[in-house]
Parts: sequence; structure tokens; C-alpha cells
Amino acid sequence: MEIPVGHSEKELGFRLESISQLPSTSSTPPASHGSAQFCGLSELRFDLETDPKEAVNFDLRTTQLFKIGRVHSVCMSEGFEASKEKSFSRGITIQFRRETESSAFHCAFEERKKEAIARGESELPNGREPASKSKFDDKIEASSAKMYFHYYGQLLHQQNMLQDYVRTGTYYAAVIENRADFVGRVVVDVGAGSGILSLFAAQAGAKHVYAVEASEMAEYARKLIAGNPLLGQRITVVKGKVEEIDLPEKADIMISEPMGTLLINERMLESYVIARDRFLVPNGKMFPTVGRIHMAPFSDEFLYVEIANKALFWQQQNYYGVDLTPLHGTAFQGYFSQPVVDAFDPRLLVAPAISHVINFSSVKEEDLYEIDIPLKFISSVGTRIHGLACWFDVLFNGSTVPRWLTTAPGAPTTHWYQLRCVLSQPIYVMPGQEITGQLHMIAHNAQSYTIHLTMSAKMWGPGAEQGGILQSSSCKLDLKEPYYRMSQPQAYSMAQDQQPHQLLQTQDIQILSQDEEGSELMQQPSMNSGAELH
Ligand code: SAH
Repeated sequence: MEIPVGHSEKELGFRLESISQLPSTSSTPPASHGSAQFCGLSELRFDLETDPKEAVNFDLRTTQLFKIGRVHSVCMSEGFEASKEKSFSRGITIQFRRETESSAFHCAFEERKKEAIARGESELPNGREPASKSKFDDKIEASSAKMYFHYYGQLLHQQNMLQDYVRTGTYYAAVIENRADFVGRVVVDVGAGSGILSLFAAQAGAKHVYAVEASEMAEYARKLIAGNPLLGQRITVVKGKVEEIDLPEKADIMISEPMGTLLINERMLESYVIARDRFLVPNGKMFPTVGRIHMAPFSDEFLYVEIANKALFWQQQNYYGVDLTPLHGTAFQGYFSQPVVDAFDPRLLVAPAISHVINFSSVKEEDLYEIDIPLKFISSVGTRIHGLACWFDVLFNGSTVPRWLTTAPGAPTTHWYQLRCVLSQPIYVMPGQEITGQLHMIAHNAQSYTIHLTMSAKMWGPGAEQGGILQSSSCKLDLKEPYYRMSQPQAYSMAQDQQPHQLLQTQDIQILSQDEEGSELMQQPSMNSGAELH
């Protein structure tokens, strides 16, 4: 008979006519009445009526139940006793009053065991329910998250971002010039860091700002905010991940700076989108609203030789009497698997850029797990193409003044610089020749992406119309392991009189967008709109 026990619907109990432990020795308590109870997610607990302290817990996943008679069964498991630390295998003989009760227990056992096994890894080995894992923990390796939040917990890295005046100045302008979007509104700052954007939102008249920050920086943000009491009285710092914390009310507008190298590095866009789904009112505003990744082929002989030469070391045949050449190929590929981060001269671009639009107001979190961008360019010059150059911009679609923050080559340099994927096998093109390919980026659990790049140039001359491919070059890169090349002075400042042969202002080009909603916002972006401030 099923007896009501406990309050949890997960608990299910059975009364037992007798219960005794195996093997029975002189020290084993004699058989007594008792009960069997399924508790939690994977626990089976036996209680003796005579001695409630002698309760025995079994982990369902490692327990076996044998029917040895009409009303008799044996339960064997690698068990543990709640009151003692030592774990050891044990068995229990149980007897039900009626066969129907025995059958019901067997059915319940099989069902519960199956569920517990299916739940598998998500539970602790002792059968106790772990603290519930969040969407963040499910997809991000703990060691990566630890390093990540340790990094952002340090004031020097927040200072580095604050000192990027193109970045912070554009955010300030976007908020202050669009105060109509903030006045009297509830705001959530996703990944508040030092709390700077929350303070801007308060300056713009927000009714209340929730500054959510997962790293230890939350404590410094509290200090900074407390030190600015006029604004601070309308800001609450919430320490924790946006995936895990709760807020007392919904937000009218969300503000965040979730952009990493190439926009998507760090995978914080996903947290921004999760925060949107958890905390933003329907049709609430997002600052930024839209992000775009821009791409164009480039030619940079100097960079190519620099990377290829790094592997020259491994071409030595007599390094202290050792031939290093067996590792040359591996080293060569290794250097080309690092995307290059620096500020380059936009005159290195050999075709107008194309763009991929991500609308933060509508994109699904899962859409960011894998991003596939078809490439198609027309080369403006005859040259050797060494790879694909990428940068991004974001739009603050304020109701008063829409503003763009751009990281384009030729625009004032930001701490994001630009990113270039270099092909180990360059391709040759003639002026007007078509370059096709694919940029395929797959998120990984170290908060970054694996990039697969393929670029091909169609055959030039007779036969080209038949669609023959003459050259194709591919590479695989890890966005998490870039080659920071800023030690050499790379920052570009274009002299007024210089007219690059292929001026590639993003506003001049047709944007390839898979996102219908985002594309209408693409009408009047200005590459340098953020720079007007400075
Ligand atoms: N908003 C600040 C900091 C931007 S850096 C500024 O503009 O200056 C991004 C910040 O987001 C870091 O401090 C990081 O710790 C935090 N962060 C990243 N992912 C987060 C998450 N899932 N939940 C809460 N904070 C997060």
C-alpha cells in the first residue's frame, strides 16, 4: 500500500512487513517492521520502525532489486549510511504484506531508477541533488568562467575599457542624447563591471537601475556608486550571473557592453539575450540594439611573411645535432591558426566589405552557437589575397539620436582593434575577379569560437564561365588564442589627401543580411559617428 509521506511529490513510501540487513550476523539487528521511501531524485531510503537512527540510504543508480518470493525481495547496492562517512556495499531483505504492494514497489523502483540514470551526470555521486546549474554553467567550462570573471574582477582591466574613449564616449553620447528612452524608466545593466553604464543611465534620468555583475568587480561598483550618492540612490548592484540572479521587477530598457573581439568572442552576447528574455518587458529597448560583423579580403605580404617566418625555427636540420624539420609543418599551421589582432591600414582591403547583422532584440540565444556567413566579393585589384579582415559595429537605436559605435579600420582605434584570419596558402586574383567562400564560426565551451574560413577564386580567362574553381584555401582558427600584434606601431591615421584605391566605407555598400528586421536599421549607419565626440 502506498502511504503518504513527506510533502514533496517526489517522495513515495511503502510500508514493510519486515526488513533485515544482509548478511545477518549476531550483531545485525533482528528483522523489524519498517518502510521504504523514494526521496529526492535518486535516493531509496529504508527505515526501521524499532530504530529510526538505523536508516539506510541507497543510490538508486547503483542499486539492484531482486524478487525472491511472492512478497520477499532483496535490495543490493553500493550504499552509504547517512550517519557515517564510510561507504560500503550492502544488502537488505524486505518483505511486503501483500503481493500487490510488492509489485507496486518493483514498478516504482524501475521507474525511479530509470529516471535517476537518465538524469545522470547532473547529480552528485551520493545521490543528493546538486545546486541547480544555470544555462551559463551548462555550456561554459568552469575553468574558463573562473579565469574570465577573475580577469574582469580586476580594476586595471575595467580601467582599460574605461580609457577606451571611443567606446565609453560613444556609450555616454548614446545614453545622454537619448535621455527620453531613460527618463523614469527601469534599466538593467547586463555585466555592469565598474558600474559606469548604470551611472550614465542614472544621469539620463532612469527611475531605477539594476547593475548586474558576476565578478568581484560588483563590490567595487558598489563603492563607486555609493561615492556618487545623487545617482547611486537609484542604482542597485546585484552580484551574480544574469542567468542566475532574480530581479524584483522587469526592465523597460537594457544596457550592456557585451562585445568581444569580432563582436562574438567571450560569448557574452548570449548572456545579453538571456537577460533580455528574463528581464525585459515586451518591446523594451536594448542598448546596443544591433551588431554587425563586417568582412573584406585583404592583401598584406608583410604580415604573411612575418607569420610564416615564425615557423622557420623548425626548419633547422642541426639544432644541437637534432633535426627539427619533422615539426615544421605543425608549427607552420599552428601560427596560421591564430587570428591576428591589430589596427591595420584600410588600404590593405581589396574589395568592398560585406556584413552579417545580429539583431539583439530578436536573435535567439541558440542562433549564436553557430554562425555561418557566405562570402562573395569582387576584387578591385590584381593581387595576392592573404585572408579575411573582420571588424564590427553596434547601433544604439535611440528614439532621439541613433548612434553607431564602430571598430572599423581607419576609424579611431578602439581596444578591440580589428581581426584578420590569415590563409597559409594565399590566393591570386585579377581586377574584377570574384572571390567566394564561407566563414563558419562554432561556439566552444571556453567562451569563444572555432573559426573555419574558406576562400576561393574562380578561374580567370577561358573556361571561367563554366564555373571552374582554380584556387581554394582554408584555415581553422581559434578565436580564443589570437596573436596580438600591437607591439609594433600599427594604429592607422589616414591623411586627408590620401584616397585609397578601394575606399570601403560601410555605408556605401550593400549589406547582406539574413535578418529582415535588422536590415531596415541599416539605412544610415555612419562609420565614424562615434568619433564625432572626440
Ligand atoms: N559595463 C562595463 C563592463 C563591461 S565588460 C563597462 O561598459 O565598462 C563586461 C562585464 O560583464 C564584465 O565585468 C564581466 O564580469 C561581466 N559579465 C560577463 N558575463 C556576465 C554574466 N553572464 N552575468 C553577469 N555579468 C557578466
